[in-house]
Amino acid sequence: MMPHRKHFISLLIFISFGIVADGVPCGSKFMKVSKRSLAYDQDYGEDSSSSDFLPLEIMVLTSSRFDPLPYDTQASFEDALHHMSELVSVRRHSKPYLLKNAIEKCAKDWMGSDSRLNRGHFARDARQYYDEYAGKIDLNEFGKNFALFLYEDRDLCEKDPAMLAAANPCQPENAERPLVATLIVCSNNPVWSGFKNAFDLFRHEILHALGYGTFNAKQPAPPLHYPWKLSQETQYWKAHFMDFANRATAYAKYHFDCPQLDGVESDEDKIHLDEYIYGNELMTPNVGNGQNYFTSISAKILEETYTRKQWYQVNQQIVKEETQLYWYGKKWGCTFAKKSCAEFIEEKTHYRSNNGLDIPAFPFCNADNLDVATDGRKLELCVTNGTDSRILRTGCYIGRRGYRYGESRLPATSLYDLFGDDIPARASQSTGAEPPRRYCPFVDFVAKEDDSVGEWPANSKIVKC
Ligand SMILES: [Zn+2]
Repeated sequence: MMPHRKHFISLLIFISFGIVADGVPCGSKFMKVSKRSLAYDQDYGEDSSSSDFLPLEIMVLTSSRFDPLPYDTQASFEDALHHMSELVSVRRHSKPYLLKNAIEKCAKDWMGSDSRLNRGHFARDARQYYDEYAGKIDLNEFGKNFALFLYEDRDLCEKDPAMLAAANPCQPENAERPLVATLIVCSNNPVWSGFKNAFDLFRHEILHALGYGTFNAKQPAPPLHYPWKLSQETQYWKAHFMDFANRATAYAKYHFDCPQLDGVESDEDKIHLDEYIYGNELMTPNVGNGQNYFTSISAKILEETYTRKQWYQVNQQIVKEETQLYWYGKKWGCTFAKKSCAEFIEEKTHYRSNNGLDIPAFPFCNADNLDVATDGRKLELCVTNGTDSRILRTGCYIGRRGYRYGESRLPATSLYDLFGDDIPARASQSTGAEPPRRYCPFVDFVAKEDDSVGEWPANSKIVKC
């Protein structure tokens, strides 16, 4: 993974200057080893009875040198632990023991040599057991079935001021699910000061801790090259895909209304859902200050992440409620999911021009919108589900000029490259949103993932204002 490291550092340092308060990388990419390998075959035919599964109950171990989390962050962490217990059930483990050596080895893998475990790491009620059992704790004794080793890695955190937190599971000893994971929280990093959504951040990290995006499949989904037409030239985008996503792909086809979808597109390391395609889904790299939804797409990936026998089940009712609120990408079609934003904008502007929509190519601004927005005027987007409506006022997100090559998998693209002579001269040399959003001219609140627009009504559509 080392060749990618430099790339990510430059990308995230850029983000720290660009959208610190609006969308923040979780930082899992910065772990020294980003993925574990699973070498076992999956048995899809295996039936599991519900008595094989228990609500996820997490024991938190903290480093004796770890400063307590700030009050609000700690409260959000505890809310997230409680919520995840309702959301996720885990398979009973045949040996639910925390072994001192195993945790130390895992901590060393992630955190370097200075991570010796002592009884001070354990919750007060577990310390005595730690002594009595000489480093072996039976999680059952505490009504727990998973452990998080909470830690602050000062070196890692200082190296990347845009990192909020990171989590990775420790290697399971056999085909059973992981029992323990590391969670790093960089609570002294300045990026926390503009961040208001620690609850979603911890939900996101706990899913990584369980194995979401952090295990390698035996047969990884291969990358594909998509041709992207711009105004004058064609670019080739190397699309990567999430593993363990057979059922998720079937659902995503329905969500986007795109039967030709090839898979669930991911970031380069296959740890997160692609930011551009999946927007405010919980498992994209940026956890925004607005709503981040744990949808059926991620739920199915989690349920399919296992060896031999299924490790996790999710609470379908909670997932259904969040999925209904997830508006990003809904019925936006294959042009959105597989082609360039220039092609999507052209198609939607053409087909919707008679509908009287202010922003016909939503989530993007078209050339007319950019003309209005760069003139300082606002655009309106109206959404309704028939009984509940919202009017959102927005602008277009104009990026800084001169992104450097290497900040994205694509060469830097100006708005002129996307629109040609249709673009107003005053904006032609500007770019759209940041590299994870492919320099495309997103409307303001989408690019920022902020909380200014509140929630959309469930199952709403864009209508003429
Ligand atoms: Zn993450």
